[in-house]
Amino acid sequence: MTRVLVTGAGGFIGHHLARYLADHGHWVRGVDVKAPEYEPSRAQEFELLDLRRWSDCLQAARGVEEVYNLAANMGGIGFISAHKAEVMHDNVLINMHMLEAARLQGVRRYLYTSSACVYPGYRQDSPEVTPLKEEDAYPADPEDGYGWEKLFSERQCRHYWEDYRLETRVVRFHNIYGPLGTYDGGREKSPAAICRKIALADDGGEIEVWGDGKQTRSYCFIDDCVDGMSRLMRSDFHEPLNLGSDRLVTVNDLVDIVAKIAGKSIRRRHDLSKPQGVRGRNSDNSRLRAVLKWEPRISLEEGLGRTYRWISSMLELREQEKHGLAPTVS
Ligand code: NAD
Repeated sequence: MTRVLVTGAGGFIGHHLARYLADHGHWVRGVDVKAPEYEPSRAQEFELLDLRRWSDCLQAARGVEEVYNLAANMGGIGFISAHKAEVMHDNVLINMHMLEAARLQGVRRYLYTSSACVYPGYRQDSPEVTPLKEEDAYPADPEDGYGWEKLFSERQCRHYWEDYRLETRVVRFHNIYGPLGTYDGGREKSPAAICRKIALADDGGEIEVWGDGKQTRSYCFIDDCVDGMSRLMRSDFHEPLNLGSDRLVTVNDLVDIVAKIAGKSIRRRHDLSKPQGVRGRNSDNSRLRAVLKWEPRISLEEGLGRTYRWISSMLELREQEKHGLAPTVS
């Protein structure tokens, strides 16, 4: 039984990861500034700590062999484009302090969750984008704010391996989605936002789509994400590795798939004033397949079906609570 720390365990991916690791026989400490929103954590121990603070990082990393560092101040494109200073400030502090605390506490393996936002804008200016290979991150021109911090922290992981022999792993996620993720409030990402809008729309109704909807992305379901992360931690691979699907779809396609799942006919109203991020982005999974002998396997239709059903059940529950028809979930 390995003793593992998951930071950001009150958030979407960290919560799923804590459950996955506990289910696979590990002892898990979860840490976050907040408890998970939708169900209790499965971590054996859960501590509320602010990892921007050095002393809290030392406390979080005590007595564990492995650290999955997921804590970050982040959100969808609307949030990260409007809060660059805050995002960089918080995430630099969290990641620098957590790495050094892990080293001082004798942690053996450390996994850092980076992002496809490290890839340069000049490789993503067309919807028919060439899938991004890990080495494409340089010469650097990442997403302003959030992406620069990710690239900087990736480099620091590399230097901790080179200088201190801390076994670091770096994963670059491409749009992870699934149940138990934020679906409203301003930090939600496109799959959750689209599921919410369609769940709330009438059959034959209209939803707002950010940009012209022709921007392309690939989306990876949460169960594949936690599986891949755990496989990477077990490997001996020190370089950054993509973790995503390589099936490219437009945001308009995403709307149509969710509408079909919902059994509704939905019209799209495009708001060109809203941020839409890069024009196209896809994951090249050659290195992922070579290193892990594995790749994501859950189809977009299956994953979106599970996500849509969860979000629409949450919205129904909320509606019932508003009318005093259901017990409040605490
Ligand atoms: P999330 O926002 O649901 O989870 C992040 C968690 O970190 C939150 O629960 C938050 O409260 C916590 N946190 C923030 N500041 C903290 C602090 N000072 N101390 C302790 N905890 C703090 O996001 P997520 O989608 O679960 O993302 C997890 C990681 O994966 C992040 O590092 C994110 O940048 C990265 N990532 C996610 C995606 C994606 O598609 N979801 C894509 C690329 C990278």
